[in-house]
Amino acid sequence: MTQTPKYVYYFGPEGTEGNASMVNLLGGKGANLAEMAGHPDLRLPVPAGFTITTEVCTYFMQHGGQYPPSLKEQVEEALRKVEKAMGMKFGDPENPLLVSCRSGARRSMPGMMETVLNVGLCSKTIPGLIKKTNNPRFVYDAYRRLIMMYSDVVMEKAEGIEPPEGMGIRVQLERMMEELKHKKGYEKDTDLTAEDLQQLCEAFKAKVKEVLGKPFPDDPFEQLWGGIAAVFKSWNGKRAVAYRRIEGIPDDWGTACNVQSMVFGNMGDTSATGVAFTRNPATGENQFYGEWLPNAQGEDVVAGIRTPNPLNKATKTEQNKHLPSLEEAMPEIYQQLLDIRNRLERHYKDMQDIEFTIQEGKLYMLQCRVGKRTGTAALNIAMDMLKEGLIDEETAVLRVAPKQLDELLHPIVDPNAEKKATTIASGLPAGPGGACGQIVFTSEDAVEWTKKGKKVILVREETNPEDVEGMRAAVGILTARGGMTSHAALVARGWGKCCIVGAGKIKVDPVKKSMTVNGKTYKEGDWITLNGTRGFVYEGQLPLIDATENPRLKEFMALVEKYRKLGVRTNADTPADAKIAREFGAEGIGLFRTEHMFYGEGSDEPLFILRKMILSRTAEERRKALDELFPFMKRDIKGTLEAMNGLPVTIRLLDPPLHEFVPQDEEKQAELAKAMGISVEDVKRRGEELHETNPMMGHRGVRLGITYPEITETQVRAIFEATAELIKEGKDPRPEIMVPVTCDVKELDITKQIVDRVHAEVEKKFGVKIEYLYGTMIEIPRACLLADKMARTAQFFSFGTNDLTQMGFGFSRDDIGGFLPDYLEKRILMADPFQTIDQEGIGQLIEMAVRKGRATRSDLKIGICGEQGGDPDSVEFCFKVGMNYVSCSPYRVPIARLAAAQASIKASRKN
Ligand code: ADP
Ligand code: MG
Ligand code: MG
Repeated sequence: MTQTPKYVYYFGPEGTEGNASMVNLLGGKGANLAEMAGHPDLRLPVPAGFTITTEVCTYFMQHGGQYPPSLKEQVEEALRKVEKAMGMKFGDPENPLLVSCRSGARRSMPGMMETVLNVGLCSKTIPGLIKKTNNPRFVYDAYRRLIMMYSDVVMEKAEGIEPPEGMGIRVQLERMMEELKHKKGYEKDTDLTAEDLQQLCEAFKAKVKEVLGKPFPDDPFEQLWGGIAAVFKSWNGKRAVAYRRIEGIPDDWGTACNVQSMVFGNMGDTSATGVAFTRNPATGENQFYGEWLPNAQGEDVVAGIRTPNPLNKATKTEQNKHLPSLEEAMPEIYQQLLDIRNRLERHYKDMQDIEFTIQEGKLYMLQCRVGKRTGTAALNIAMDMLKEGLIDEETAVLRVAPKQLDELLHPIVDPNAEKKATTIASGLPAGPGGACGQIVFTSEDAVEWTKKGKKVILVREETNPEDVEGMRAAVGILTARGGMTSHAALVARGWGKCCIVGAGKIKVDPVKKSMTVNGKTYKEGDWITLNGTRGFVYEGQLPLIDATENPRLKEFMALVEKYRKLGVRTNADTPADAKIAREFGAEGIGLFRTEHMFYGEGSDEPLFILRKMILSRTAEERRKALDELFPFMKRDIKGTLEAMNGLPVTIRLLDPPLHEFVPQDEEKQAELAKAMGISVEDVKRRGEELHETNPMMGHRGVRLGITYPEITETQVRAIFEATAELIKEGKDPRPEIMVPVTCDVKELDITKQIVDRVHAEVEKKFGVKIEYLYGTMIEIPRACLLADKMARTAQFFSFGTNDLTQMGFGFSRDDIGGFLPDYLEKRILMADPFQTIDQEGIGQLIEMAVRKGRATRSDLKIGICGEQGGDPDSVEFCFKVGMNYVSCSPYRVPIARLAAAQASIKASRKN
C-alpha cells in the first residue's frame, strides 16, 4: 500500500515539521517560517500556522483546480493544531481565530503573487471578536481590509476578470474610502472611527455585489478555501508570469500556500508593523535598517500608502526624520527585535530581510529571507562578514553575483539623487553604469561636441556601424529601438559604456534634432542622465559617483584570484583596449580581430588599400595592394603584442566577407577608380560581382585564404615580423595564429603550409627563433563533429560561439529581433542563446568537440571567444567542460574572473 503523501507542514509551538532546507517543497517563506519557529537556536515568536506544499499547487494546476484527495483532511488536522497553539478556534463565534493565506515560491518573487489577511471574519465572528478585544474600531478596520483584499484577489483576479484601468474592485473600494475621509475631513486612514468603518464595510459589500455580481462570502471556511485557491492561482497571475520570464524562473515550480494565525498591528498605539534589513541593503553598512508604522497592518508599509517611520536613529532620512523611530517609541520591543536580528544573522550567516508585527506590546516575526542588495552592499557585507568570522573565504567569494560587479566598475548615478529624480523613460539596460550629458542626435555632432570638451549622450532611433565614432565619443547612448544584443548594446558593453536601448516611449526626430517623450520635447543640448544598470532615463543633470578605486573591491578580487582555476583572457583589437583589459586582470588576448584596422579612427588609409585589394582582378594587382597594406598590419599587431608582453595573443586571420568593405558612395568609388586606373563603372561592376546572397555563409574566413593564398601569406608575415622585431627589442611576444570559419582539417593543413614557409623565411631573415601556436576557431558544427581530426593540426581550439550558435540553431543573429522575443515569451527558449550558451543543445557540440579534440591531442588548449565568454553561466559551463580559458570584452574581465572562481568553488563543494 502506498502512503498518503504529506501535503501540509505545521509550524509553531506544537512541533514544527519543516525547516529552511525544504525550500523546494515549502517555498522560501514557508521554509523560513518553519526554521524561525522550530530551530533550537531560534525558536522565535512566530504565529502558528501551516504550509501547503508547492506540490499541491502543481497538482491543482494540472487537475483543473482540483486538490489531491487527502488535502482537506490534512488541512483540518493542521488547523486543529494551530487552534490549540493559539487557544482560539477558526469560525468560533466567541473566540474566533483569524488567518492569513500567503503565497511563497522557491525563489522570492516580491509582490508578484497574492496574500489575503484577516480570513475568517464574518457576521458570525465579528461580535465575538469585538467583545473579546473590546475594540470595535480594530475589528471593522480588519474587516474592511479583508473585503478589499479578498474581493480583489479571490473574487476578481483569481476568477480571471480583467476590469478596465481604474475599474478594478480594489481601486473602486479605495476610492470610496477616500471619499469618506474627504467628506469627514480626515487626513489619515487611522482617523476613521469604528462607526465610519462599520458603515464603510456595509457599503463595500454592496459594491462588491454590484460590481462582481456575487455576495461577499460570509462563511469562514468558504473564505479560507477561496484564499488558498487564490494563492495557487496567483502563480499564473500576470505579474508573476512576467516576473518569471525576466528572472528565468521555471513555470512548473508552483507556489506554496502558508496559512498563518493573524496577529494585529492595527489594534491601537501599542501595536505596529514593520519591515527591516539586518544590514543596510544599499550600502552594506553593518547597521540595523528598517521602517515601521504604528497602528497598521503589514501591507501598509510595503504598499507605500503611508510614509513609514524610521526604525532607529541610523535610518532617519530627510523625509522621515520628524517621525518617531521604533527605538524611541518602543525601546523594549526595539531591543528584542535587535536581539532577534543578531540571532538571525548568526544563524543564517547572511543579511536578512524581515517582517514583524507588534500586537499590543508583543513582538511577532512574520517572515525572514536573504535580503536583496546592491552590488556595493553585496561586496561590503561579504567582506565584513568574513572579517567578523561569520563566513569563510569561499562563501565570501560566492556572495557577490558576477553581474553585480558591473555596478562596482563604472561610475554610477548617485542613488540618493536618483531617488528624488523623475524617470522620463525606461529601456533595456544594455551598458551598465551612469552617464550624464547633453543630448546630440547624430554621430558627427557627438564627435564635434566632444572635441569641444562637452559631455554628450547620443540619442538615436537605432544605431548602425556608421555611428561607431559617435558612440565612442559619447559618454552614454540611448536608442528608441533595439535589444540587448543589438549593435549598440554589444559595442557599448565592449567599451564599458553606459547604454540604454529599446526605450520605446521616445520618439526621435534626427532632422529637427529633437526627441519627444510623454508629450514633452527635448532639444539638442538639453541635459539628461542615464542609469544604464537599470535602464532608466532622467531629465537634467544627476550627480555621478565613481565606484572604481575601491580598496574593498581590490581585497575581494585578490580572494577571487585565490580560488580561480579557469583562465580569463580578453577580446581586444587595439593596444588601448589590451591595456585596460590587463589592468582588469586579463591573462592574454583570446581574440584579436585583424579587420579592426579597417573600422573607425585612422582607418581611412588601410581601408582604401584594402578596397583596392578586394577589387583587384589579378593576383599581381592583389599582391601589390597587399604589400601596401603590410606595414599597417604589422604595426597594429606589433602594438598589441607589445601591450600584452609576456602574455598570449590570439590573432585571427581575416574573417568577414570582403563585400562588407566595398564602397557604396559615389565619391569613394570615384577616388578608388582613379587610384586603380579603371573606370567608375568598373569599380561598380567588380563590387557587384562580389555580392553574395548569404555573405555570413559565403566567401569569408579561411575560404578567402584558400582562394587567395597571398592574403594569408601577408597576414602571417606581418605576425611573424612583428614578433621577430619585438624579440630583437628584448620583448616577450607570444602570438597564436587562429584560422576562422574552418570545417575541415585540410583547410588547416593547406593554410599551415603557408605558415610554415613564412615562419622559416622570417626566422632566417631576422636570425631569431619564433615560438607560436597554430590553431583554429571552432564555429561550424561540422568542425565539432570532426574535432578529433581538426586537432591533428590545430594546437588550440577557440570556440566562436556566436557563429556556432548561429549555425547550430540556424538563427541568423542579425535577424533574431523578428522572432526571438516570441521564443522567449512562449518559453520555447529560456534565454537568448547569443547572450548565454545554450547548454542543452550547442553545449553538446562544445562538449563533444572538447572530448574529441583532447583524445587526439591531450594538451590541446581550449578557450571560447564568443560574446558568451563574459556571461557568468556560460563561464561556469566552460569550466565544467574543461576549457583552459574564457575570453571576453575588457570590461567583463573582472566579471568572468569572479564567475570562474565561483565555478571552482561550487565544483569543489559538490565533491
Ligand atoms: P508579500 O510576499 O507580498 O510580502 P506576505 O505574505 O509577506 O506577502 O504578506 C503581506 C503583508 O502581510 C506582510 O507585511 C506580512 O507581514 C503581513 N502578514 C502576512 N500574514 C500575516 C499574519 N498572519 N499576521 C499579521 N500580518 C501578516
Ligand atoms: Mg512578505
Ligand atoms: Mg565568427
